[in-house]
Amino acid sequence: MSVLELKNVYKAYKLENKDTFTALSDINVTFDKGELVSIVGESGSGKSTLMNLIGGLDSDYTGTINVSGHDLKDFKDKELDDYRKKKIGFVFQSFNLIPHLSVLDNVTIGLTLSNEKEGIKNQKAIEILTKLGLKDQIKKKPTQLSGGQKQRVAIARALINDPDIILADEPTGALDSGTSHQILDILKEIADGGKLVIMVTHSEKVASVSSRIVEISDGRIVRDNKNNDYKKIINTTLLNNSKSIYTLKNNHLNNSTYSFLSADADTNTKQVQQEKKNEASKGHLSFLSAIKLSIHNMWASKIKNILMSIGVSISLISMILMLSFGSGLTGYISDQAADFSNPTIITLSKSGKDRDGNKLTSSDNSDINAITRRAFSDAEIKEVSDDINNYLADKTDFKIIYDQNDENKNVSYGFSVPAFTMGTISYTSPKENEDGELEELSTPILYLYTTPPYYTEKKLLTPDGHLCKENEIMLSAAAAQFFGVKELDDCVGKEVNLNITFDKYHIRLPVTVSAIVDVSVFSSAMIMYIDYDFLDSRIKMEQAKENDEQTGIVPTLLFIETETKDNKDLIEDYIKEYRKDLSGSVEEQLVKMFTEMLNTFSIALTVIAGISLAVAMIMILVVMYMSVSERTKEIGVLKSIGARKKDIKLIFSTESFLVGVLSGIAAIILTLLIGGILILIFNSILGFAPLRMLWYYFVEAFGLSIVISVIAGLYPASKAAKLDPVESLRRE
Ligand code: ADP
Ligand code: MG
Repeated sequence: MSVLELKNVYKAYKLENKDTFTALSDINVTFDKGELVSIVGESGSGKSTLMNLIGGLDSDYTGTINVSGHDLKDFKDKELDDYRKKKIGFVFQSFNLIPHLSVLDNVTIGLTLSNEKEGIKNQKAIEILTKLGLKDQIKKKPTQLSGGQKQRVAIARALINDPDIILADEPTGALDSGTSHQILDILKEIADGGKLVIMVTHSEKVASVSSRIVEISDGRIVRDNKNNDYKKIINTTLLNNSKSIYTLKNNHLNNSTYSFLSADADTNTKQVQQEKKNEASKGHLSFLSAIKLSIHNMWASKIKNILMSIGVSISLISMILMLSFGSGLTGYISDQAADFSNPTIITLSKSGKDRDGNKLTSSDNSDINAITRRAFSDAEIKEVSDDINNYLADKTDFKIIYDQNDENKNVSYGFSVPAFTMGTISYTSPKENEDGELEELSTPILYLYTTPPYYTEKKLLTPDGHLCKENEIMLSAAAAQFFGVKELDDCVGKEVNLNITFDKYHIRLPVTVSAIVDVSVFSSAMIMYIDYDFLDSRIKMEQAKENDEQTGIVPTLLFIETETKDNKDLIEDYIKEYRKDLSGSVEEQLVKMFTEMLNTFSIALTVIAGISLAVAMIMILVVMYMSVSERTKEIGVLKSIGARKKDIKLIFSTESFLVGVLSGIAAIILTLLIGGILILIFNSILGFAPLRMLWYYFVEAFGLSIVISVIAGLYPASKAAKLDPVESLRRE
C-alpha cells in the first residue's frame, strides 16, 4: 500500500458571488515512502492548493485522499488535528517561524502542543538541531538567523514529531542557490531515511535532483516522471556540497545514527490504528505551556501590555479607593459613636420595621413619625423587658427591672423629636441686626433630645457649664454658633426663648443655656438637649390648658443600665437577631443616617467605577482583537503544526488572563502607593484618615481584574480559533 493516494480529487474555491473557481481537477496520483517528489507548475496552477489538501489544512474537496490506508474524509476535526501534528511536517517558503520564540521553542512547539515533558522535548529538538548544524543557535530568536538557518529550523520543527510525510511549499524560494542546495540535500536525506517528501518548486534545476517530478498545469497533472538516476544524483550532490553539510554527510555514512530520518512509515493498518489510539490518549497543550507561550509573546510587545495593564488598573484602583473611603468614613463615624455611648447602657428605640425586619407598610405607618407611633406604651415596655429577661435567663443573672417605682429599676426613659419630620423646634435670642438694632433671631434645631442618663460633666465642652436641669437647655457646638461668640464658654448662661411645636402643642418658654455638649462626630448637627422631667411637666401644663388628658411625654427611648459590657452585648445580640422592630441609641440612628447618605454616595461612585471597568474591558477586547489580526500567520502556522481550535483559544485566553493578573498586580501596588500618600495627607490636614483599605478589597479587585480580562478576551480568542488555516497562511 502506498503512503499517499489521491483519487479523483477535485477542488473548487467558492468565490464571493456564488461562483466557484476550479483549482484542481482529476487528480489521480500515488506516492511512496522514500520518494522526494517535486511538484512543478506555473504560478496559480494549483500546487499550494494540493499541498493544503494533503496536509489536512483544507477539507473542502471531492474525491479521496488516502493516507496509509485511511481516508482523510473519515477523520473528525480532532483526528485531523492529530494527523497534522503527528503525520505531517510542513515547511514553508517564508519559513513562518514564530518571531517571539527562540529557535529551540520554535522547534519544540509541536511537542508543546502534545504536552510533552520539558526534558524529552528539548532533548529531541537539540538532537535534530545538532544534526542540522544549528547546535549553537538554539537560544537565538529567528530574526537573528540567516535565511538558510531559518529554513533549517523550520525543517527541524517539521521533523520533531517524526512524521511520515514532509510537505515543503517552495522551501528554497527565498534562498540563494548555495543555501538552496543545503536545504535540498537535507530534504533528500529525509526522503532517503524512508519518509515521503513532497516539495513544490519553481526551479527545474531544483526539480531535477528529486526522485520524481509531477507537473501541474491549470489544476491538472500533465507530467509524472520518475528519475531513475535518483540515487546516483544524491551521492554526487552530497559530495559536491561537502563544505556545507558536514554533519549530515557524516551521518549519512553511518545510517544507524539517522534515527530522526528513518521514519517508520509502516502501512500495516492494525499498527496504524494502534498508533492512532496511543496518540489520542496523549496530552494536549497544557495551561502551563500556554502561560509560557503567552509570556514570550507579551514580552515581545511589553510596552503595549504594560500600558494596557495600567489602563485597566486605573479603574481597579479607583474601585479599591472608593470602597476604602466608604468603609473608612462609616468606620470612623461608628467608632466615634461607640466612644460616645456608654459601654454598659443600652438604648432602644422603635425602628419603623416589624419584628422580621420588614418596613412597616404605608397603610400602617402613615403616622410612623408621630410621637405616639414612636412611643413605647407601658405594655410594650413590659413585653420587651420580659422577652429580654427570658432570653437572658439561662445566660446571666442580670434582669431588667422596668417598674419605675422599684428602687432597683435599671430602665429609664428618654424622648426625642426629630424636627424635620415631627414638628419645629427653634430658639430665639436677641441679636444685633445689620442696622445695629437688637432683633429676635430664630435658630432652627434639627433634633431635640432629653439628656441620656449616661451623660456626665465630661461630655461638656464648657468647663463652666453643667448638665441641664429645670428651665435649662444644652446645645451642640453647631447649634450654639448663632450666638456669634468667640469662646464656647461665653454661651453658658445665655437666655433664649425655646419654641417647640409637635402634635398640636406649642410651647414657648424662656430657658438658659447650661452648657455646650460634645457630640463628637455629629458636631456639625444642630442638636438641643433638655431634661426629661422638665419637658414632661411643661407638656402636661400644655395638655391641661387644652383640657386634654395629662399624659405628658411618652418615652420614645429606653435606656437599660446593664451593669456589665457582657450583659450589654448579650442584649444587643438578642435585639439584632430577634427584634428588628427595635434599634439602638440616638447615636446609632445618626450613624445609620450618615451611613445611608454615604451609601447613596458610594453607589454613585461605584457606578462610575463600573463604567471605567467597562471601558477597561473594551480596551482589552480591542487590543486582543488587534493582536489576533497581527498574529494571523502565526495562528495558521500553529494550525499547520496540529494545534487544535481549543489550543489556539487557550493561548489567547491565557494571554488575556495574564493581562488580568498583570493589571491586578499593578492595581494593588499603585493603590498601596496612592492610598499611603492619601493617608499621609489626610492625617496632616484632618488628623485622621477616612480611608480603610481592607485586604479583601484587594483580593476582590484582583479577582475582578482577571474576570473582566478573561471575559474581554473570550471573543478575540474564539475569533482566533476559528480562523481558516489556509487563508491565515496565505496572509503576508
Ligand atoms: P500555486 O501555489 O500553484 O501558485 P495556488 O494553489 O495557490 O497556486 O492557487 C491555485 C489557484 O487557486 C489560483 O488561481 C488562485 O488564484 C486560486 N485560489 C487560491 N486560493 C483561493 C481562494 N481562497 N479563493 C479563490 N481562489 C483561490
Ligand atoms: Mg503556491
